[in-house]
Amino acid sequence: MKLVEPILAQQAQLQEIRRDLHAHPELCYEEQRTADVVAAKLTEWGIPIVRGLGVTGVVGIVKNGTSNRAIGLRADMDALPMQEINGFAHASRHPGKMHACGHDGHTAMLLGAALHLSKHRNFDGTVYLIFQPAEEGGGGARRMMDDGLFEQFPMEAVYGMHNWPGIPEGNFGVVAGPMMASSNEFRVVVRGKGAHAAQPHRGIDPVMVAVQIAQAWQTIVSREKNPLESAVLSITQIHAGSATNVIPDEAELIGTVRTFSTGVLDLIQRRMEEIASGVAAAFNASVDFSFKRNYPPLINHPEQTAFAVEAMRAVVGADRVDTDVEPTMGAEDFAFMLQEKPGCYVFIGNGEGAHRAGGHGLGPCQLHNTSYDFNDNLLPIGASFWVRLVEMSLPV
Ligand SMILES: [Zn+2]
Ligand SMILES: [Zn+2]
Repeated sequence: MKLVEPILAQQAQLQEIRRDLHAHPELCYEEQRTADVVAAKLTEWGIPIVRGLGVTGVVGIVKNGTSNRAIGLRADMDALPMQEINGFAHASRHPGKMHACGHDGHTAMLLGAALHLSKHRNFDGTVYLIFQPAEEGGGGARRMMDDGLFEQFPMEAVYGMHNWPGIPEGNFGVVAGPMMASSNEFRVVVRGKGAHAAQPHRGIDPVMVAVQIAQAWQTIVSREKNPLESAVLSITQIHAGSATNVIPDEAELIGTVRTFSTGVLDLIQRRMEEIASGVAAAFNASVDFSFKRNYPPLINHPEQTAFAVEAMRAVVGADRVDTDVEPTMGAEDFAFMLQEKPGCYVFIGNGEGAHRAGGHGLGPCQLHNTSYDFNDNLLPIGASFWVRLVEMSLPV
């Protein structure tokens, strides 16, 4: 491993920042204190900042030399609405809020890179350090773009990084093309006609119709889309009725659809609606169909992916970079940025949980788990990757 030496010397400082953020988690668009910490550090290091894009977003600008080339590095800052069960000193001090996805670590790694870049300036061009709010469902990336991120800060490429439990500590994983899925949610209300449960012939039973729709929908995934294309259709809630002897008026189906391509998503959405209305009509019922597209699929651009691979290899060695990592059906709003700019999103291994405090069980160390913690050993590795990526992208 060839870490950037001065960053290694900053490990204690970065760990202190990371643990402070971990102890003070803030939810979507409420990252006021976190943004204050980021802004204060950047200012302390002489880095100009612009605040307020995407409500709490912060952009740091590190410029050097004469080139007008520029790239963006992005970290997310928000936490999750869940209760942490860890007992260590830096555990969450805000009940019901927790950094269970490691965005505290992402922010600290980018700050580590910022500190080094501002001091050593071994590049020619501009680096935009993008600290975004609200990744966890709030679409903070989109919001910053709507507020003019790419117009105010023109950049030729943008990069993102997420820690990934299960990948060995400090290893990297990436794949060109689709790496994370589109995330979408649906809600369908089946309208029948309520009746006494002993007199079903006097009503239209929406529960039976909902069950038929639920089953028929699964044939879209198994029979209608190309089997070589991935998709998940999960019905996660069915609501109907309030008594054992009443056929209700309505039944509700709620769930999520994940795909790696917009084409497959178009097909699934269209067929879900057709099947729902067709089945309902066959039973003299009707449906209200709503389908909301949240995050698009995250598609890594081949050229920038190859470039990121070179930077990762320069830091940890070729044997610790998996260039064919298995994509995940999870979603990530950095996908919006990759729709507008070439770039790449990479995973950095968070390990198996051995870094976690004893006495609380060593694992699991999965994201969104109540006993998760970001692995501080990654701080100099991730920051070194950012720095190498900048130096290789914007050579002197
Ligand atoms: Zn998350
Ligand atoms: Zn996350």
